[in-house]
Amino acid sequence: MGVELPELQFTSLDEIPLRISVPRKAFLEHKTRDVEFRLVQLRKLYWAIKDHEEEIFEACAQDLHKPRFETELAEIGWILNDIVFTTRNLHKWVKDEKAPDIDLNYKLMNPKIRKDPLGCVLVIGAFNFPFQLTLGPVIGAIAAGNTVVIKPSENAPRSAAVMQKIVEAGLDPSCYTIVQGGVPETQALLAERWDKIFFTGGANVGRIIAKAAAPHLTPVVLELGGINPAIVTKSADPRLVARRMLWGKLLNAGQVCTSQNYLLVDKALVGPVVEEFKKAYKEFYPNGAKGSEDYSKIVNETHFQRLKSMLDNTKGKILMGGTMDEKELFIEPTVVQVESIDDSLCTSESFGPFIPILAVDNLDEAIQLANGVQSTPLGLYPFGNKADVEKILAATRSGGVSINDAALHIPTLPFGGVGESGYGAYRGRSSFDVWVHRRPITSSPSWLEAILAIRYPPYGNKIKTF
Ligand code: NAD
Repeated sequence: MGVELPELQFTSLDEIPLRISVPRKAFLEHKTRDVEFRLVQLRKLYWAIKDHEEEIFEACAQDLHKPRFETELAEIGWILNDIVFTTRNLHKWVKDEKAPDIDLNYKLMNPKIRKDPLGCVLVIGAFNFPFQLTLGPVIGAIAAGNTVVIKPSENAPRSAAVMQKIVEAGLDPSCYTIVQGGVPETQALLAERWDKIFFTGGANVGRIIAKAAAPHLTPVVLELGGINPAIVTKSADPRLVARRMLWGKLLNAGQVCTSQNYLLVDKALVGPVVEEFKKAYKEFYPNGAKGSEDYSKIVNETHFQRLKSMLDNTKGKILMGGTMDEKELFIEPTVVQVESIDDSLCTSESFGPFIPILAVDNLDEAIQLANGVQSTPLGLYPFGNKADVEKILAATRSGGVSINDAALHIPTLPFGGVGESGYGAYRGRSSFDVWVHRRPITSSPSWLEAILAIRYPPYGNKIKTF
């Protein structure tokens, strides 16, 4: 490609308090209250991303061997569309809302809801979609009038460094800043008081974030992972299942929070589904996934070793794929037929390209097993006819659902977990709502005193007037 990328420099721990004092002060000076100011920032961010497109492609390629198509689709395109959607709707979203239908005497108090920014907020990103998952929440935070400190994931270091260039080129430095680093730097940030923390990452770190926020009573959004089930009923189409489920695992080599973790397949369909997986794999990668420009690598050695030992420890039988190359951090899309739901391929989040399949006797068994592994996953993928799907929906919980599909999310729907997969949601209008305080306001005119006088003592027999 020949695009020069900046090196990632961690922010020194001593510098962090000073760095974050700037956006904190800017908020208190009301710099971001003006909606036109926010719109200008969002438009500048848009053009800064456009100006750095080639660096984004290259950074994603170096960090994750992310195919150009996936970077265009799920990083650049996604964020730019988000900005356009937000700037088009912001004037509508910021408007005061009237109170819902109420009694006349309350109506006279002109009740409304104002959307106030929360203050100076912290966004902590994950590595797998380094731009989308970090800048996505930032777009909403800017739109809502907050000042923002951004902490990208150190596990996608090239992307983190390019993100810094984009933020510094596009955004007002007194209101929006980046802090770079790993665990010590993030913990230094967490020791500070924030007006909201938005975290995307694993549940274990999510708990650390929630604990760190508690002493300051800081509200938190936790966008966590999930042990997401796919349920393939007898009425499903095996070819559709295999093509879509394979796509759900080859995208970013399965390093996607919403990708299915395991498949519960009606026993009558296991053979046909496995055959279709093999056909689909051959069709998508005629020469295999290894060496393909259309397949990502595992992000780093630690995650590679974690995945390797998961596959080493399964008691299941590998029916497709299974090869690895440590030097290239390559793991092939791998179908494994497991014998029990207790297989660790089913019970822990792989966040990699594994497709464990467990045969089930019927739909009731599938539902029972899925609810037993994790009753509140981030995503759920039912395959089958309407009646089967409705039965699944009525008996399960999850952050979101894609019926007859893999990890699909429409950008204007709210996105977020439930229970163990996190709390709070963003995307579309929710990206604005998650960053505002809905401040109820009433205004009682002096002439209303004649009516309001009823509330003052002595109460006497006033109750009868109601
Ligand atoms: P992670 O939890 O390891 O890291 C996320 C962020 O937390 C990073 O910025 C990192 O610097 C910071 N961090 C790590 N350890 C920390 C500690 N001890 N104290 C303070 N901060 C710490 O997650 P990851 O490896 O980047 O991403 C993988 C996980 O994230 C998976 O579980 C995946 O499902 C989940 N995820 C969820 C979503 C979602 O939108 N729900 C999206 C992507 C990934």
